[in-house]
Amino acid sequence: MTEPTSDDPCATRIAGEQRSVASRHAQFVSEGHEVAAREFAVSPSAAVAELPLGPVARDVLGQSSRSIWADVPDALWNDWRWQQRNRLRTIADIEAIVRLTEGERRAIEGTADAFRMALTPYYAALIDPDDPACPVRAQAIPVEGELVRQPGDLDDPLGEERFMPVPGITHRYPDRVLFYVTHNCPVYCRHCTRKRKVSDPTSAAAHDQLAGGLAYIAAHPEVRDVLVSGGDPMTLSDDRLDQLLAALRAIPHVEVIRLCTRNPVTLPQRFTDATIAMLAKHHPLFVHTHFNHWKECTPEAARTLRALADRGLNCANQMVLLKGVNDEADIVRRTNVWLLRQRCRPYYLFQADLATGISHFRVPVEKGLAIMRALRGPVSGMAVPTYVIDAPGGGGKIPMVPDYVESRDDEKVVFTNWQGDRYEYPAR
Ligand code: SF4
Repeated sequence: MTEPTSDDPCATRIAGEQRSVASRHAQFVSEGHEVAAREFAVSPSAAVAELPLGPVARDVLGQSSRSIWADVPDALWNDWRWQQRNRLRTIADIEAIVRLTEGERRAIEGTADAFRMALTPYYAALIDPDDPACPVRAQAIPVEGELVRQPGDLDDPLGEERFMPVPGITHRYPDRVLFYVTHNCPVYCRHCTRKRKVSDPTSAAAHDQLAGGLAYIAAHPEVRDVLVSGGDPMTLSDDRLDQLLAALRAIPHVEVIRLCTRNPVTLPQRFTDATIAMLAKHHPLFVHTHFNHWKECTPEAARTLRALADRGLNCANQMVLLKGVNDEADIVRRTNVWLLRQRCRPYYLFQADLATGISHFRVPVEKGLAIMRALRGPVSGMAVPTYVIDAPGGGGKIPMVPDYVESRDDEKVVFTNWQGDRYEYPAR
């Protein structure tokens, strides 16, 4: 990897483009494009992120290390069962690899009953042991913000229980359902929207509940799309998952199955060749995953995403916008461009919802819009997700789009492009 030098033509070009970003902001202000100017001004990094991806940015990946597990043989390290068995669950476990702050210690104790902590050695090894602001650490180790309940926080922020006709099924939209098949995950994300039940083994889906969910889907011919979710369905054994997917496939009106899993991020070893072959029997099957930062973009994760794509298991990424993790356009952009290279399509950028105990992760909507404005243009639309707010209480996903339209009447629409240049188009 070579940093551009001052006599490097690449550096000269970047400097020129930085000037053009600054002049574009000035142009927005002088021409009275208040929304655009504000969106540019929210985050200086949004402007930096407008620079084209050069070779340096393109090659930035998270590097997996083995931390204290350096002597663990490859065969064990790459065995997902070993990873599951050796998860870190206690303060003592974590302190073997991370210098915890007093606040983190208090938060681990304070959240133990409500939402457990667990990390695979693989994901834990991505943490910077000395940096409390490490974006991987922020997603996996509790902080005291989790103990705060803000006015307006909701235990079920998306109204998933409200739209639950039978236990384990949320049927909110006409043609699709969410099917919760487990409440376990390899790593418990501190920003999880389902803290009310995920990580609680007593709330796991029983055999009868799964049968009830399948019966509901079979009895509703309007359901053509099933999102198999949880928890993380990849915590089930291959045999169990195979049976479940086969049962769904046997329902004639189920056209599409989507598997919602964070295992490509937290335990990519879970996708063995045999597992991927089993999944590929149930096409059309899509995989929805959840990368939030380029530090999670490791060689192991790349191998998994590519292996899934090779078997036609198209992946889509559902990133959550999180303060202190990825609330900079450059982070979102690098992560998304990397995902595209692994044939995983950036699909959604979610505004963090109103789940209790995650208020410290929330990013102002205006900053989210600034990130979206900085993404559109410099990189392919393939790398630009849809920014959405999942409406509190179960209203569904509402797209949030930067304001490109300056005016609209019966004759014409006036708008600005990604560079702030003004254009007109006939209204009819
Ligand atoms: S993997 Fe998904 S369900 Fe599990 S803790 Fe993370 S966000 Fe929640």
